[in-house]
Amino acid sequence: MLESFVSAYPGTMKQTYSGSCHCGRVRFEVDADLDHVRVCDCSICRRRGALNFRVPPADFRSLTPIEELSLYTFHTHTARDYFCPTCGIQPFRRPRTDPSVWTVNVRCLDGVDLDAIPVRRVFGSEYP
Ligand SMILES: [Zn+2]
Repeated sequence: MLESFVSAYPGTMKQTYSGSCHCGRVRFEVDADLDHVRVCDCSICRRRGALNFRVPPADFRSLTPIEELSLYTFHTHTARDYFCPTCGIQPFRRPRTDPSVWTVNVRCLDGVDLDAIPVRRVFGSEYP
């Protein structure tokens, strides 16, 4: 009884996904209920074309030490954009509007039907 009550709420249908950059140097796991992806129009998101999904720190595990990734920051230097120093793919970042969470690039996750996930447009360009 309690079980069916709880499962009606978002976040209780999480599954674990494996993710990587292109060359495989960066590997990570994320627990997520991928009920949407975010497409943002800010200066960096529109260039990289990622499908974003935010997860709390407890639901994100980088299997590659973060120090082995390259870090790019800009503007207020609050967002932290991590990318693979070998292949250049950016599998995850810390977003400026909430640097305590991780934003993963859903395009880097294995076994996800990207066309089946509803897109939520966000307008990061309005927050310079
Ligand atoms: Zn790589």
